[in-house]
Formats: sequence, C-alpha cells, structure tokens
Amino acid sequence: MTDLSRSVDLPLTLDYIAVSSYGAATKSSGEVKLVKDLDQGLEGRDLLVVEDIVDTGLTLNYLLNVLKARGPRTLRVAALLSKPSRRLVEVKVDYVGFSIDDHFVVGYGLDYNEKYRNLKDIVIYGAD
Ligand code: IMP
Repeated sequence: MTDLSRSVDLPLTLDYIAVSSYGAATKSSGEVKLVKDLDQGLEGRDLLVVEDIVDTGLTLNYLLNVLKARGPRTLRVAALLSKPSRRLVEVKVDYVGFSIDDHFVVGYGLDYNEKYRNLKDIVIYGAD
C-alpha cells in the first residue's frame, strides 16, 4: 500500500481496516470478522480499497458491503494479486496487479499464520 501510494500524485489520506477470514489455515472458512476499524469517516469521499490478494472473494465482498454503507462518493478496488480460479462470489476488482494460479503465496506483506510478511519477494508457500 505504501509503494502504491507513493505512485499516486493526489492529496490522499491512508487508513487501515483489518478483517480476518483465515485462522491458522490456508483454506477460507467463509467467516469474516472485523478486527480493526477505520479511523476516518467515508461520507462523500473517493475511496480506493487496496487489497493484498483476492482469493474466494468472500472477504472483499463483506468489506465492500460494510464500506458502501458508509456513503463514499465513489468506491474502487485495487488488488495486488488475484486467484480467479478460486472465486466463490463475484466481486469487481477495478485494478489487478497480477492474476495467479491456485497457490498459497507469502511475502511482500502476505503471511502464512502471521509469518513471512517481511520477505522482499512473493513466493509460493511450501515450494522448494
Ligand atoms: P478470500 O476471502 O478467500 O478472498 O481471502 C482473502 C484474504 O485471505 C486475503 O486478504 C489474504 O489475507 C488471505 N489470503 C488468500 N490467499 C492468500 C495467499 O495465497 N497468501 C496469503 N494470504 C492469502
């Protein structure tokens, strides 16, 4: 998100919302819980949701419903990665960095059980 924001030449603010759909497993439970809410209001604002990876789409679907209800003027979604073959719900992702096959990936902010976020590159978890 910070890398992306440095490439956007607009007067913007950054905020963070944390939702969790995974426990200590690599399969989506389908349950989404709000772990940390935004600090800023969204009423009348142009909102770009920046997501690390869209897998089944359940998390993003939940998140978009929560955010829409707060009345942003516009709402778009950017995701670094997308696994289209895993989708369970149709969600519109306006900007996709890379579409990938069905692998669990870690690094560059992505975790497995909170580990590996600090890897500089994105790698397939469990690959040699
Ligand atoms: P979804 O609800 O199945 O689309 O899952 C989305 C969320 O699950 C992402 O925001 C990630 O936190 C996590 N996730 C899904 N796939 C991966 C992966 O390959 N590596 C790391 N996290 C993942």
